[in-house]
Amino acid sequence: MHIAIIGAGISGLLTALELIEQGCQVSIFDQQQAGQAASWAGGGILSPMYPWRYPQAVNTLAKYGKSMYQTWNEKLRPNSGIDFEIHDTGMLIFDEDDFDIGLNYAERYQEPMQQAEYLIPDALEQINPWIHPKFQHAIYFPELSNIRNPRLLQSVIAYLKQHPLVNFVEQTHIIKFQIQQHQVQYAIDQHGNKIQADQFVLATGAWSQDWTEQLNLEIPVQPVQGQMVLYKAPAHWLPTMCMNKVMYLIPRQDGHIICGSSMAYCGFNTLPDAKTRHNIVEACLEMVPELSQFPIVKQWAGLRPSSPTGIPYIGAVPEVNNLWMNVGHFRNGLCMGPASAQLLRQLMLKQPTFIDPTPYSPERLNSEQLIVS
Ligand SMILES: Cc1cc2nc3c(=O)[nH]c(=O)nc-3n(C[C@H](O)[C@H](O)[C@H](O)COP(=O)(O)OP(=O)(O)OC[C@H]3O[C@@H](n4cnc5c(N)ncnc54)[C@H](O)[C@@H]3O)c2cc1C
Repeated sequence: MHIAIIGAGISGLLTALELIEQGCQVSIFDQQQAGQAASWAGGGILSPMYPWRYPQAVNTLAKYGKSMYQTWNEKLRPNSGIDFEIHDTGMLIFDEDDFDIGLNYAERYQEPMQQAEYLIPDALEQINPWIHPKFQHAIYFPELSNIRNPRLLQSVIAYLKQHPLVNFVEQTHIIKFQIQQHQVQYAIDQHGNKIQADQFVLATGAWSQDWTEQLNLEIPVQPVQGQMVLYKAPAHWLPTMCMNKVMYLIPRQDGHIICGSSMAYCGFNTLPDAKTRHNIVEACLEMVPELSQFPIVKQWAGLRPSSPTGIPYIGAVPEVNNLWMNVGHFRNGLCMGPASAQLLRQLMLKQPTFIDPTPYSPERLNSEQLIVS
C-alpha cells in the first residue's frame, strides 16, 4: 500500500515511521523544510503541563509518550547517530491553587508518570537549590521528563530519508485533492504535479483549517503563537523542570534552559518580540533568580495547532474513503505524538487499536465550536 502524508512535523513523521514498520510505502511532503514548524519550536515536556486541567483523552495519549520515545530512540539511534535525550528531571509546580487537585489526581491515577509529592522547604531545596526562597512549597512529579525535540526531528528525518520505503519531498505545498465518488484520486502540488497514492494523511498542524472549504468540513484548527527564550548555563546546572502560572523552565543535559511560553492568537506570525521576551524572563527569574547570570542565546516563536478541546483529530475524514487526519494537538503534540501515530496506523491498517479511538474521531468535526480568542 502506498500512503501520501501531507506535513512533516512530529505528527506526520511518526505516522510515517509507524507505517513503514508495517511494510507500507510512504511519500511524505512538506511545504517547507521538514521538522521546522511547531514540532521544532516546542519545549518537549512529556506531559500536559497541568494534566488535571485537560480532558482524559489528552492524558491517555500523553502517558505513552515517554516509553514510546525510549523505544524509538533505541531503534533510530544506531542508524541516525542522534540521541534525542530523554531527560529525566522531574517537574516542580509552584501554583498553590493546584496543590490539592494535583496530589489528588496523582493518587487517583496510580501510574508512574503521575506520582507526586508535596515538598516542604528543606526537601525543596535539596531537589533544586536554585528556587527563590519565596516559594516555600511545591508539588514534585519525579517521573516527568523532556525530550530534545529538534534532535528528535533530526533523528526521525535522517532515518526516514535513508529508508527504501520512503519518498521524502520538501519545499512542496500540497494545495488540493482531486476527489471523485468519495475517493481522493490524487493530490496536487503548487506546480500542478499530481501525486498518486492509495491513502492520504493530513498532518498539517496549524495550517489544517486550509482544508475546510475543499473538504466541506469545519476543521477548527488554528495557529496559536508561543514564544520561547533560551539560556545557556553550565551542564546539569538546573536539576528540575519548574512551573508556575503556566510559565516554565526546561533544562537540557548540556545546560541549555528553555523558558516559555506565551500564548497569542495572531495568525501565522512567527516573529518574537521584546515585550513577550520580557514577560517570559520575568516569570522565569521569579522562580530561579540566579538564571540571570547566564546569557540568553536565542528567542523564537512557533505556531501550536489549536483545537477547541485540545483533543486531536485522529482517524478517517468523514465522507472521503481514503483520507485520514492526525491534527489539532495544540499544546501537547510532542507528548501525544507517538501514541497518536500508533493509533492512526492501527485504524488505517484495520488493526486492533490499543486504546478506544472514539474520543479522537474526526466524526466530531462540524459539531465543535470554533475557539474564540
Ligand atoms: C512554544 C511551544 C511550546 C510547546 N511545548 C510543548 C511541550 O513541551 N510538549 C508538547 O507535547 N508539545 C508542546 N508544544 C506543542 C507541539 O509542538 C505541537 O502540538 C506539535 O509540534 C504539532 O505537531 P504537528 O506535526 O501537528 O505540527 P507541525 O510541527 O507544525 O507540522 C506541520 C507541518 O505541516 C506542513 N504543512 C502544512 N500544510 C501543508 C501543505 N498544504 N502542504 C505541505 N506541507 C504542509 C508544515 O509546513 C509543517 O511542517 C509546544 C508548541 C509551541 C509552539
